Amino acid sequence: MRKRLFIPGPVDVREEVLKNMGTQMISHRGKEASALQKRMHDKIQQVFHTKNLIVFSTSSGSGLMESSIKCCTAKRVAVFSVGSFGDRWANMGVSNGVPTDCFTVANPGDATTPDAVDKALATGKYDVVTITHNETSSGVMNPLGEISKVVKKYPDVLLLVDAVSSMGGTYLPVDEWGIDVCITSTQKCLGLPPGLSIASVSEKAYNRAKTVKNRGYYLDLVQLYDFVVKKDHQYHATPSLAHYFALDAQLDYILNVEGLENRYKRHEQMAKCVRDWANKNFEVLPAPEYRSNTLTVIKNTKNINVGDLNKFLAEKGFLIANGYGDLKDKTFRIAHMADTTMETVKELLGCIDEFLKKN
Ligand SMILES: *Cc1c(COP(=O)(O)O)cnc(C)c1O
Repeated sequence: MRKRLFIPGPVDVREEVLKNMGTQMISHRGKEASALQKRMHDKIQQVFHTKNLIVFSTSSGSGLMESSIKCCTAKRVAVFSVGSFGDRWANMGVSNGVPTDCFTVANPGDATTPDAVDKALATGKYDVVTITHNETSSGVMNPLGEISKVVKKYPDVLLLVDAVSSMGGTYLPVDEWGIDVCITSTQKCLGLPPGLSIASVSEKAYNRAKTVKNRGYYLDLVQLYDFVVKKDHQYHATPSLAHYFALDAQLDYILNVEGLENRYKRHEQMAKCVRDWANKNFEVLPAPEYRSNTLTVIKNTKNINVGDLNKFLAEKGFLIANGYGDLKDKTFRIAHMADTTMETVKELLGCIDEFLKKN
């Protein structure tokens, strides 16, 4: 039986998008490919609320995260981590030989504060700061608007943002917040299969990257940027054209059929519904002001067996996510992102209620 996915990626993909994945191939060097990639570029700019150049990479979101931390850091990077995906960024820095300091929080569910960022940047040691916008292990949506105001006080510091599990599901104005590199991937709020990573790149980030040595080849941010500008939106290596066909269509749906505002509103409504339910039955992990609009991480205060719950849900045609890393079994996660509807969310919660009555 098909299981409707309430895990934070991959997500359920609309039938039309799946069909577009199966489009017959074209040359990735032809005019047709340039036109396709230009269309995607311009539409992604609208989703990101940016005039910055957009690059696509045939890798998952981690690909362009690794690329950006490696290519943009000339001096030292301050990684702000509130969970597993923040830690991943620190690992990427260290394993690429990038001078990296990782600033963590006291407890899972805590957020990055503007003060902590200000304190670190005031030392003058850093030329890059990385922020996880939406930490998928703890369900924290960091106060990025406030953090960005602090970063703007340091004009030599680049702001890199992991928006993998939020972009397209919640308002994230890249230019207004001065984000130099903003990264997402296709299998979360954008509602596509996994395999493509997308980033906006500011001129400031591009100019910095040009001064950094040993940026690699496949994921070199300068090469990606240069190809888009000089080779009419083509790329140095063969991209996943299947994803391109699907993304082209899905972006039309997001921008013109549903509309971004409606999409944000739907995500808010789903989040509110899941939180209200969680507050009645369990507890939500992060404090109210830091709760994500795209997934809810719930404290397992009733000590239910999450594995058993998922077995029960499988028979009803659903799948939710256990806690991530150290939070396994202590929490469980319900994603409400991409093209999931309120109706399906309510159906899922009804099934969990049934499980709770029996257990
Ligand atoms: C899923 C996720 C990633 C990793 O993205 P991939 O596309 O799997 O490489 C990174 N950061 C966050 C916040 C995520 O949710």
